[in-house]
Amino acid sequence: MLDCAIIGGGPAGLTAGLYATRGGLKNVTMFEMGMPGGQITSSSEIENYPGFFEHGKTGMDFMDTWQEQCFHFGLKHEMKKVDRVSKIDNHFIITLESGEEVKAKTAIVCTGSTPRRAGLKGEDELFGRGVSTCATCDGFFYKNKPVAVLGGGDTALEEAHYLSNICSEVNLIHRRDSFRASPSTVERVKKIPNINLITNTVVEEILGDTMGVTGIKLKNIKTDEISELEVPGIFVFVGHNVNNDVLKNEDGSFICEVNEQGQVVVDLNMRTSVDGLFVAGDIRIDAPKQVVSAAGDGAVSALQVISYIQEQV
Ligand code: FAD
Ligand code: NAP
Repeated sequence: MLDCAIIGGGPAGLTAGLYATRGGLKNVTMFEMGMPGGQITSSSEIENYPGFFEHGKTGMDFMDTWQEQCFHFGLKHEMKKVDRVSKIDNHFIITLESGEEVKAKTAIVCTGSTPRRAGLKGEDELFGRGVSTCATCDGFFYKNKPVAVLGGGDTALEEAHYLSNICSEVNLIHRRDSFRASPSTVERVKKIPNINLITNTVVEEILGDTMGVTGIKLKNIKTDEISELEVPGIFVFVGHNVNNDVLKNEDGSFICEVNEQGQVVVDLNMRTSVDGLFVAGDIRIDAPKQVVSAAGDGAVSALQVISYIQEQV
């Protein structure tokens, strides 16, 4: 039986693996269905991780040494997809996609989240080359330039506000004329002079060339008028999907407490409502959705696993 099964090998899972193995646990396996590294490996540059400030290094370069460090201390990696985590008696069953079952004393689920795509023409092709889902990460690349933001929820409006401090102009495009975001946020954003609210409008296509995004084609759904906006970047904020499927029972209910968005409810020690089950990173409630915080959660959860196992003896 494993001391700890870690599901997901992004910043949270890798850090959990590092702390668990360096903390003395002998039998720790990280199940990561792809190459370890997580979402950040799709980023063209990372410049907000403290201590790492090498211009031009990609997210892939950045994560490269993390796995090497973990494996050095004894973390095992199985490149397998987990279908389900369940608890029977006092231990966990990790059911893999292949049907194989692995037993573990504890589990840390770090399966992250996936920013939703809007399904626009050109969106996938230009993702990472002008199409972004992270203003904190990529906003600076558009310093003193105009950008577009898509969405009418709290994330879109809050991120538009963040971008308005960096970019010359923020064109917020929303398909309706009322916003899903909280009224106070809407009022705040309306007062910002360099944010243009373009409502009742959809993006028909993201335009680009080999260098990246050059603009967007818009359609006003009330008048059917088509227009083009020249921008080098578009931020898509149409919601996030938390990767929580592994925590579902066969009937679709969750094995632990989650909120309305499917984010797992945890305390400050990353403990879920199920004894011995921890989560870390983007999957948890109130996650700042940053590498540094995901790594912090991973460390906290692994330290808690060590204490939990010690208390069981
Ligand atoms: P993730 O990174 O999402 O990792 C989860 C891992 O779990 C994935 O590798 C996935 O393959 C695996 N997994 C999922 N389900 C299963 C399963 N069933 N079985 C096995 N494995 C599974 N943050 C910053 O701090 N700075 C930045 O500059 C920055 N730039 C970004 C740029 C982009 C384009 C994106 C998309 C995000 C960026 N972020 C940035 C956000 C940051 O990447 C995330 O907050 C962080 O990666 C979350 O870490 P995590 O470990 O919780 O989850
Ligand atoms: P969200 O509330 O689901 O909003 C998504 C927005 O994107 C909506 O305005 C939606 O339009 C639009 N949209 C969805 N699919 C689209 C598509 N294909 N094309 C164009 N537009 C599309 O997501 P979110 O803003 O990420 O927020 C998620 C949750 O976190 C919410 O509960 C939110 O309140 C919360 N949150 C809270 C705070 C805060 O409290 N400070 C901050 C951020 C997020 P419609 O409105 O027309 O459906």
